[in-house]
Amino acid sequence: MALNLTGFRYCPRCGRSTLQADGPKAVHCDHCGYRYFHNVAVAVSLLLQVDGQLLLTRRARDPAAGLLDFPGGFVDQEERLEEALRREVAEELGLAVDPAALSYGGSGHNRYRFEEVTYLTADVFFSLELPERPVLRCADDVAAAEWYPLDAIPDAELAFPIVADTIRELRKASC
Ligand SMILES: [Zn+2]
Repeated sequence: MALNLTGFRYCPRCGRSTLQADGPKAVHCDHCGYRYFHNVAVAVSLLLQVDGQLLLTRRARDPAAGLLDFPGGFVDQEERLEEALRREVAEELGLAVDPAALSYGGSGHNRYRFEEVTYLTADVFFSLELPERPVLRCADDVAAAEWYPLDAIPDAELAFPIVADTIRELRKASC
């Protein structure tokens, strides 16, 4: 099943419209034999808790505009995961996070659709606890930053299944 690459028809090597899907993550060119693998994109998210409350961001843009997500984003080329998270939360929230203070908080996978391409992602979570709520300044891709006790998060407003799964794990761990 050509899940990701149905819009890709033209071969970047020979220019003919002879690309064919090879399963969900690859294409090949019937004319010249060119092959392309659409590998997963890596994303990092911050699980920031202060006094039992979790920080969520309300997405200002699609996909999932208006719904709740974790702060974070895609890892850039040649970037360490912790550095990517530091950069993303600084951009999104004006929040300065010390990469050395982050602890591994689990992983998962997600589907992120943008401009007719579905990116399958590998999501890595980092946990951080702070003694008090930091001052936040939302960028224009974040509609709001909201704090919730784990048992009061509105599950129907979560942006992606991976967000719901991760919150379920956090609730289990806090019991
Ligand atoms: Zn070709």
